[in-house]
Amino acid sequence: MRDDVIITADRALLPGGAAGPTAVLAQGGAIVAVGDPASIVAMAPEAPRVEWPHRAMVPGTVNTHNHSFQSLLRGIGDDLPFLAWRDRALYRYSPRLTPDGVATGALFAFGEMLLHGVTTVCDFFYLNHQGTEHATAVIEAAQRLGIRIVMARCFYDWDGAPAAYRETIPQAVAHFEALHRRYHDRARQLVSVQPAPHSQHGASPAMIEAGAGCARDAGGPWHIHLAEEQYQVEQSLARFGKRPLAAVAELDIDFASMIAVHGCWFDADERALLADCGGSLAYCPGSNMFLGDGVTDLVDLVARGVKVGLGTDGGCSNNRVSVFDEMRTAALLQKVHKIDGQAIDARTCFRLGTVTAGEVLRLPIGAIAPGYRCDLVAVDLDDPSLWPAQALENNLVYALSSRAITDVVVDGREVVRARTLCHVRLDEIHQRVRELTADWTRD
Ligand SMILES: [Zn+2]
Repeated sequence: MRDDVIITADRALLPGGAAGPTAVLAQGGAIVAVGDPASIVAMAPEAPRVEWPHRAMVPGTVNTHNHSFQSLLRGIGDDLPFLAWRDRALYRYSPRLTPDGVATGALFAFGEMLLHGVTTVCDFFYLNHQGTEHATAVIEAAQRLGIRIVMARCFYDWDGAPAAYRETIPQAVAHFEALHRRYHDRARQLVSVQPAPHSQHGASPAMIEAGAGCARDAGGPWHIHLAEEQYQVEQSLARFGKRPLAAVAELDIDFASMIAVHGCWFDADERALLADCGGSLAYCPGSNMFLGDGVTDLVDLVARGVKVGLGTDGGCSNNRVSVFDEMRTAALLQKVHKIDGQAIDARTCFRLGTVTAGEVLRLPIGAIAPGYRCDLVAVDLDDPSLWPAQALENNLVYALSSRAITDVVVDGREVVRARTLCHVRLDEIHQRVRELTADWTRD
């Protein structure tokens, strides 16, 4: 078959643990067989081969929450309180971005992510300018690079934000539906379009219900920022007489398909409610630490059975774009928060950045097993950050240097080879970023 490919490596991280020499056969971008190289090659002797000697193949990582354009603001709003960061960096520069500008931000963010082993990114996108052109530019940037994308198309109507973010409910619904019709890819799932009412402060209750209604119609999940900062809990209590999750639960929404983002200030009742109703969480420990938001009780949520996926959040609130880095950060933050070195382990954190994150986004990704999409990362076993090799999974979480990431495959197709993007030149991205941000400053 024309679309067959066989990828082989000296070691692999499979659902059951680390394995020796392994090959994967993919057809049409899906993994159909995993096993020892000789038997896999015998199944499809004519298939093109990608060989990864001295390397281990591990599942591609899944970034459940990002704002791609924010990479352009990296370093420009650091070390400020949340509202000052928002007003002096975000609200100042983001409304200026044209479709070409957001494409530059997306090429930059997604290109850097691929080089760090991210194979799926969810872009929570709110620079919509009452249209679809900006979101289209982001999707097409992802397609150029070859990364898998979830376009979490924002629904936003708070009039305190820049006009570029705001829409009426009919506009948001119509634009979401147009994007979904045009890009949502049910076959290979390289592009998914999901609705994302911004937050309790960014979207009115009716706007949140409209977003959740679009998710119901599309048969997919929806995203919403909740309880990131402590003041947002106080606002929710003042406006609705209830804490954030309880207030949202009263709306005409489907809780089980909700992906809450952050949840730093969810109390025990809210965590129990999230678990009982089957909602999930996009957790961004690096960003929460960077902005001084607070600490989500991840250990408790995982114990209650809530599905959690890791996210890097935007490039100007972290300021890194690596999900491997978030695995380490999640573990360290929870260990110090609980004052317990055994609060959470490497295996759990690895899953939050791969297969569980895929479940949060409702995509068959994040594991090297038949039935999953063929999204793989090669890491260099000659790199000292992965020694000793018998502790591969723990070393990926706690010790990995990004220098060790050499190759990336998305949907059976090479997108990074020998630490180089295959389909867009890094020089082009650099040039575009330089030109766009030449006069952007902190002051
Ligand atoms: Zn966010």
